[in-house]
Amino acid sequence: MFNGIGVSRGFGIGEAQILERDQPEVAEITLPESALGQEVERFHTAVEHARTQLRNVLDLIPRDTPGEIESFIESHLLMLNDPMMHDGPIRIIRELRCNAEWALKQQRDAIVSVFEAMDDPYLRTRKDDVEHVMRRIQQALHNPEGESKPEAPQDWHGRIVVADDLTPADTVHMQHQGVAGFITESGGQLSHTAILARSLGIPAVIGVHEARRYMRNGETLIIDGQSGLVIASPNRATVAHYEERSDALKRRIHELISLRDAPAVTLDGDPVTLQANIEIREDIEALRKVNAAGVGLYRTEFMYMNRSDVPDEEEHYETYIAVVRELRGAPLTIRTVDIGADKEIDDDQVGPLAHNPAMGLRGIRRCLIDPTLFIPQLRAILRASAKGPINIMFPMLTTVSEVRQTLALLEDVKASLRREGERFDESIPVGGMIEVPAAAVSAHQFAEHLNFLSIGTNDLIQYSLAIDRIDDQVNYLYDPLHPAVLILIKRVIDAGRTASIPVSMCGEMAGDPRYVRLLLSLGLRDFSVPPNAILEVRQVINSTLLADVLRYAEKIIASSDPEQQNALLEEMNAGVDSIMEQDAYSALFH
Ligand code: PEP
Ligand code: MG
Repeated sequence: MFNGIGVSRGFGIGEAQILERDQPEVAEITLPESALGQEVERFHTAVEHARTQLRNVLDLIPRDTPGEIESFIESHLLMLNDPMMHDGPIRIIRELRCNAEWALKQQRDAIVSVFEAMDDPYLRTRKDDVEHVMRRIQQALHNPEGESKPEAPQDWHGRIVVADDLTPADTVHMQHQGVAGFITESGGQLSHTAILARSLGIPAVIGVHEARRYMRNGETLIIDGQSGLVIASPNRATVAHYEERSDALKRRIHELISLRDAPAVTLDGDPVTLQANIEIREDIEALRKVNAAGVGLYRTEFMYMNRSDVPDEEEHYETYIAVVRELRGAPLTIRTVDIGADKEIDDDQVGPLAHNPAMGLRGIRRCLIDPTLFIPQLRAILRASAKGPINIMFPMLTTVSEVRQTLALLEDVKASLRREGERFDESIPVGGMIEVPAAAVSAHQFAEHLNFLSIGTNDLIQYSLAIDRIDDQVNYLYDPLHPAVLILIKRVIDAGRTASIPVSMCGEMAGDPRYVRLLLSLGLRDFSVPPNAILEVRQVINSTLLADVLRYAEKIIASSDPEQQNALLEEMNAGVDSIMEQDAYSALFH
C-alpha cells in the first residue's frame, strides 16, 4: 500500500504501466562558427515540431470538458513563443557555440531556479509547465520524427499509468484512450496534472514518491482518487470490494445527475428554493451544471485577497456585471465585504486587524467606519443592478441601528447615482445576515427594516457556542445540533414568517444533507449551499414527506443529549442514502 495525494474522486482498477521517460542525456558539443546558423535552424524546427504536436493535442480534447483544459495546452503553446523559451537558447547557442540541446538545458536550469525561489506555492508549481514545454522541445531535438504521443504502449485503455510526472498533453491523450487512472511521483494539489485529472474525471493519486521503483509493470493496481490510497497486487477479495465500491459510486453519480433539472419540492408539494454560494466568478460554471436557482451568497471578500490595494468601483462593477451576465436572469445576492476574522487580508489595505478579530471590526462594522471602503462597492452593486436581478446583503449585523445607518448610507449613494444619471434598480431587495446571536434573538426587529434575512450558521454557531471556527482545538464543540443553535435558527425563521419576508440559510449547515430534513421541519424553505452540495440537498428535499418527519424536530431541540439527538436525526433521515457515499458529486464534476 502507498499513500499519496488523492486529487480526483473515483476508483481506478487496472494493470500498472510504468512510464519511464526521464530527460534524454544531454552533452555539450562545441560547434565551429560555420555550423551555428544550421544549429539555430535545427532549434527552430524542433520548436515548430513541438507546436504542431500541441496543436494536434487540442483536437483530442473532449467537447464537454471545461475550457480550462484547452487553456492549459494553449498556455504551453504560448510559452513556445516566449522569448525566454525561444530567443534565450538561440543566444546561448551563439555565445557558447554549442549544440541546441545543451543550450536548451542551460536555459531550462536558469528558469527553473527562478521558479524554485518563488514564495507563492501556485507560482512555484508553474515550474512544471516550463519543464513540460522544454522537455517537449528537447524530445523534438532528440527525435525529430517522433510522434506527439507519450512513448509505448500507445494503447492506454484500462491501464493505470505510473509516471514521474505527466504533462497536460499526455493526460489528454491518455484520457482519450480510456486510461483507468494514474499515479505520479511529483506534483501537488495545484499542479496542472491534478487539475486536469479532476476536470477529465480520471482517478488520480499524485506525489507517490518512488512509485516507479516499487511498482511493477503489469501488476494490478487499485487507486482511490479521493483518499490517495494505492494498493498494489491486491488479493481477489480486495479487488471485488473496490469493484463494488466503484459500481456503487457510479450508480450514485447516475442518480444525482438525473436530479440536475428536477425542481426542489418536498413530497408534500412544498417548493424549496435551492441556490448556491459562490466565491469567485468562475464558480458560476459549477452552479450551472447543477441548475441552481441563483446565487444566495456571493462572498465578495475574495476580491480583496492576495493583493496590497483594494478594488475600486470599476473593478467591482465589471466583476458583478460579468457574474450577472453569466447567471442569465437568475438572481444574484451580493454580500458586501466581510473582511476581518478568518478572511484575512493585507494590513496595507485597511490597517491592522484587532487582537481578537472575530469580535472586532469585521463585516458591516468595518464598512460603516470606513466609507471609502464601502461606498465604491455599494455604488458598483447598485449600478450592476440595472443589468439583472441583484439583491444586496449585509454581513455581521448586531444592532438594528447598524441597519438604519446602512440603509441611510445606501439611500445617499442612490441619491448621488440619480444625480449622476446612473441607472439602478430602485427597489433592489436589501437583506441582512443573521449570524450574531443577538441579531438572531431580536430577528423580528431586523425583519421590520429588511426585505430578507439569511442565516449564517458558520458564525452563528461560532458566537453562540463561543468557539473560534478556525481553532482545531475547540472544533469538537462545533455542533449545529446544540439546542441553543436550533432555537436561534427557529426564532429567525419564525420572525421572517411573521413579517412575511423570506429567510434563507447560507451557512455550511444548509449544505449538509444530514440537516436538511431538520431545517425543513423548522420551516426553512430557502437554502443556499456550495454548488457541489446542490444535487444531494435536492435529493433529500425531494425524498422528504414533511408530514412524516416534522415530529422529530421538536424532540431534537428538546434533547440535551447529543447521542440521543443523533439517533433521532438518523431516524428522521431514514431512506436518505446520499450520506453514505459523500462527495459522489465531486467524482463527476471535479
Ligand atoms: C456564515 O457565517 O455562515 C456565512 C455564510 O458567512 P461566512 O462563512 O462567509 O462568514
Ligand atoms: Mg459569516
